[in-house]
Amino acid sequence: MKLLTAIVPCYNEEQAVPFFYEEMKKTIAIFGAKYPDVEFELLFVDDGSTDHTLDVVKELRKADERVRYVSFSRNFGKEAAIYAGIEKSKGDYVVLMDADLQDPPSLLPEMYAAIAEEGYDSAATRRTTRKGEPPIRSFFARCFYRLMGKLSKTEIVDGARDYRIMTRTMADAILSMREYNRFTKGIYGWVGFKTKWLEYENIERVAGETKWSFWKLFAYSLEGIVAFSTTPLALAMGFGLLFCIAAFIMIVVIIIRASIFGDPTSGWPSMVCIILLLGGIQLFCIGIMGQYLSKTYLETKNRPIYISREEV
Ligand code: UDP
Ligand code: MG
Repeated sequence: MKLLTAIVPCYNEEQAVPFFYEEMKKTIAIFGAKYPDVEFELLFVDDGSTDHTLDVVKELRKADERVRYVSFSRNFGKEAAIYAGIEKSKGDYVVLMDADLQDPPSLLPEMYAAIAEEGYDSAATRRTTRKGEPPIRSFFARCFYRLMGKLSKTEIVDGARDYRIMTRTMADAILSMREYNRFTKGIYGWVGFKTKWLEYENIERVAGETKWSFWKLFAYSLEGIVAFSTTPLALAMGFGLLFCIAAFIMIVVIIIRASIFGDPTSGWPSMVCIILLLGGIQLFCIGIMGQYLSKTYLETKNRPIYISREEV
């Protein structure tokens, strides 16, 4: 027998979890007819929900031994929930799924076939449309992926979902990356392995509402850039160097001009401009450096990625 763990991060999903569970039960039945040697484990990670998500999950557990859960002591974010889920999973294979059914369980047999029969280490999904999403959000998402593609050597796929099945080997590789500032899409690319991509059209969430505000997503995208690219640092150095050379040439020109023609005008406006410009550049560079420093600071503290309050 093989065990397949479905990891479901839940943050205030009391409305969506029952739908998810019902849908999964159907999928497991269909799946079982095709692959009778596969057992399921449903691992809910309650990411410090403030509603009754945990109670709903506990109810499911009473009736169904396949359900397990981890409950965080507070909201640690989806990245931490994914990490905890992989760490606590017992399966030979693990699959990550959202609780809101935006990751269609009906794709599971196909995804499983890719790793169990076709020799892939993982099968991932990407959505080809962003239907039902605010256009401004889609626009910025596209910009982010384009920028990321230019800045980072790690491959990050546009429209990639966290919905992904993988072998134990790949899951363990992800666990071995213990960084505190986690950007899972980058981590997948970084660990490598053979991945099959499946596509589907965007599906709107079944109940409840999105936990990601525009600003939360914006901050997350900056996290991704800083975590997987040091290009901004190199850029800062480049700028610094460029302006130093320009300033040096200007000084030489001024000295030569003053010694030949004298200095008939007192050029203080240009002076102020130069001081402002250089000051601005320095601040900009220090700011970028500060970004990395703050991340390094957090990493060196070696904090746990999550703290669980109870689990079954
Ligand atoms: N989620 C989580 N912790 C958070 C935010 C979200 O565990 O801090 C979970 C959420 O419950 C859901 C999944 O992550 O199962 C995706 O979140 P959501 O559907 O709100 O994001 P969207 O699909 O709108 O990008
Ligand atoms: Mg969703």
